[in-house]
Amino acid sequence: MIEVESLLVIAPHPDDEILGCGGTIALAAERGAQVNVLVVFDGAAGDPDRLFDLGEYPSKRRREARAGGKHIGVSEYTFWNLPEGHLALEHEIDQGAKLLQELVHTIRPQLVLAPWAGDEHPDHHTVSRAVQRMLELPDTHLDSFDAWGFEVWSPLDPDHLVDVSTVWESKLDALKEHATQLAYGGMIEKLTDLATRHNAGHFEAFMKIRSER
Ligand SMILES: [Zn+2]
Repeated sequence: MIEVESLLVIAPHPDDEILGCGGTIALAAERGAQVNVLVVFDGAAGDPDRLFDLGEYPSKRRREARAGGKHIGVSEYTFWNLPEGHLALEHEIDQGAKLLQELVHTIRPQLVLAPWAGDEHPDHHTVSRAVQRMLELPDTHLDSFDAWGFEVWSPLDPDHLVDVSTVWESKLDALKEHATQLAYGGMIEKLTDLATRHNAGHFEAFMKIRSER
């Protein structure tokens, strides 16, 4: 799964790429993969207690993402900056699917990682639906890559585990660039619990969105 030349990660918010698959990104990058991360939403709702200045908050989160990405070998970030925190309408899912299709045509990934279908966060669920709808579009190019779902705070029952023990510290270093999120506390502990629940060592868990080409 990590032996790919081009990897596209679809993150709902800045930091989901690290939480969900930062170790897998680091391993793929170590093996020479070009890693593109798309961040769909602006992250503006990530500060319910208003600890930070709201006007600068989304741009601050983009800076944190870029800084974090350096620790795990992300080659490039794309930010759509869509407003978050609402239940998506059908036409928005359609629109998202078409935009994703265009992005995939540009990047030509061999592997796409996105939130799994059972992710309970509304924004994550929206992204998962848009990815699924994109994969259903009549377009032969969309048959040319694998697609796997990652977990953030809604644990999945994995089809595949990636041992990220060797790059775990890089993943944490990446996360530590997200000061706006760590300000709320408990994140690293929660993440560690999630990663160590399978076997000895640290793992990232994935579920097939589609793995047969
Ligand atoms: Zn998120």
